[in-house]
Amino acid sequence: MTSNSEWLQRYSDSILGVFGNPPLVLDHGDGCYVWDVDGRRYLDLVGGIAVNALGHGHPALVSALSKQAGEAVHISNLFTSPGQIRLAERLLQISGAPEGSRVFFGNSGAEAIEAAVKLARRTGRTGIVAAEGAFHGRTTGALALTHKAAYREPFEPLLPGVSHIPYDDVDALRAAVDETTSAVVLEPVQGEAGVVSPAVDFLREAREITTAAGALLIIDEIQTGIGRTGAWFGFQHAGIVPDAITIAKGLGGGMPIGAMITFGPEVSALLTAGQHGTTFGGNPLAAAAGLAVLDTIEQEGLLAHAEHAGSHLAATIAEAQIPHVTGVRGAGLLRAISFDEPISVAIATAARTAGFIINPVAPEAIRLAPPLVIQTKQLDTFVAALPGFVEEAKA
Ligand SMILES: *Cc1c(COP(=O)(O)O)cnc(C)c1O
Repeated sequence: MTSNSEWLQRYSDSILGVFGNPPLVLDHGDGCYVWDVDGRRYLDLVGGIAVNALGHGHPALVSALSKQAGEAVHISNLFTSPGQIRLAERLLQISGAPEGSRVFFGNSGAEAIEAAVKLARRTGRTGIVAAEGAFHGRTTGALALTHKAAYREPFEPLLPGVSHIPYDDVDALRAAVDETTSAVVLEPVQGEAGVVSPAVDFLREAREITTAAGALLIIDEIQTGIGRTGAWFGFQHAGIVPDAITIAKGLGGGMPIGAMITFGPEVSALLTAGQHGTTFGGNPLAAAAGLAVLDTIEQEGLLAHAEHAGSHLAATIAEAQIPHVTGVRGAGLLRAISFDEPISVAIATAARTAGFIINPVAPEAIRLAPPLVIQTKQLDTFVAALPGFVEEAKA
């Protein structure tokens, strides 16, 4: 049998080096656990970066995919399929989108953002305001909106007209938005920045500011959507109606699918026949996955569960009073545990050795985005082990 280390050598000899060296070669999963090729089991507290909403091998997803694979995997967007239409209708319903709203399907988060950028361009304006710390993807349009210099600078010049204001700074946002602004693009919680939440009324203020300036408010729900924060979408906690949202990660439960929802007839009329497209977007297999994920979240009550399990996690960590842990932030099952020192990489390494997958999202924070089906007692095993990881990281 080929071992973890042999595979990793072949990886570095065959895969383009953009991801660095991954520590593990995983070959299967079951529920909230994954196994590496050496047979070691890990509790998956990252869920493929907020993707595996139903965990691994969920019967509803497996049977939907198997059934659909036998019927039709792909047909192109020259045609449509019942599943694609059903999924669009379900997305319009759970997002609370008003009459006249529409869905565009792509295959990833970045593609959903690209669609949103083109939507914004169709306002006739070219300015886009995004936030410092924002992550919107790696394709060149999305990259222009992403804030991190290390991601952007090697590829400049990028799409012109993009400015970044401090996240959660209403005055800066007001000052940046004018009659040249096509859209303001914001995450309800900045996942990649380290699970950073704004003050309660930031999105509401952004809604007022964009409405007054005639600019679109586009909410990037790629990480926060599909139940991750305890509501179907993060913007719903703020009680606003955006002009468009982007979705991906959790939607397919692991199948690549992304979407942009345009809210209301005016915004939905901005992109017309021939102005955008994709070969794979919303194909029958991806749509079947999306429907299975949404149905299962509903049937298993996973919105309420995400809220409950996330609060439980935060409360147990607070009670444990672990040295060097300064807090737990985020919402639902999108959480970061913060430390008083830059020890997150060492903590993630110690955790992995002990059979837990966590993500050192920032030097002083680890991110948890486990499957929405995770049980509180599984989270408890991690909290019980965390003091040991901190100790090891400090040693
Ligand atoms: C992951 C992510 C993206 C990019 O999605 P990809 O599928 O990796 O292209 C964009 N925005 C947010 C908020 C994300 O978390």
